[in-house]
Amino acid sequence: MEIKDYPGWVEEKIITEGQARVQENILGLGGECGEVLEKVKKLIRDDTRFTNEDIAKELGDILFYSVATANLFNFGTPLYEEARGDTSIKDTLVMDTALMFSTAGKVLGVLPQLITWDDDEDLAEDLVHKLQECIGELILWIIQVARHFDMTMQDIIDINVDKLDGREQRGTIRGSGDER
Ligand SMILES: [Mg+2]
Repeated sequence: MEIKDYPGWVEEKIITEGQARVQENILGLGGECGEVLEKVKKLIRDDTRFTNEDIAKELGDILFYSVATANLFNFGTPLYEEARGDTSIKDTLVMDTALMFSTAGKVLGVLPQLITWDDDEDLAEDLVHKLQECIGELILWIIQVARHFDMTMQDIIDINVDKLDGREQRGTIRGSGDER
C-alpha cells in the first residue's frame, strides 16, 4: 500500500465512535508502546529473540492508533522517513524505545482534557495543536525504533495492512491476542 493511502485505510478499520473512539485510540497507542517495551525487556532478560516482523507488527499497532487519532481530529501527520532527519542510529534500542514510550505518555497526558469532548463540537485549537505535535513526535520515534531492525515505514505499513486485513477476513478485529 502506498504510504499516502494508509490514513484512509486506517479510517475504514475503526469500529468505535465519538468519545469511545478517543479513549480507544489513545489508550491503544500507549498500550502498544508497552508491548514493544515488553519485547525489548525479554530480549535483555532472557535473550528472547523475536523477528524483525514481530517488532514491526507492534510498531504498526502504535502507528495505527496514532494515525487514527490524527484522523479523528483532522490533522495530517507526516509518515515519511525523511521526517526523521539524519539522526544517526548510534543511540541504543533501549534508549529509543524508552523515548518512544515517554512520547506516547505525552499523548496520554492530553486524554484528561479530551474526556469531556463530544464529537459534534470542534476541539479547541490549542489542544489539536498539542496532539498534533505529540503524535508527530511519536511517529518519528516509531521510525527510529524500526531502524534498529532494518525496517522502514513502508515495511511497517505493509505488515500492519496484512495483519488487519487478515483479521477482517477472519472476523477477528475485536478481541485480544497477537495471533487471531
Ligand atoms: Mg500489539
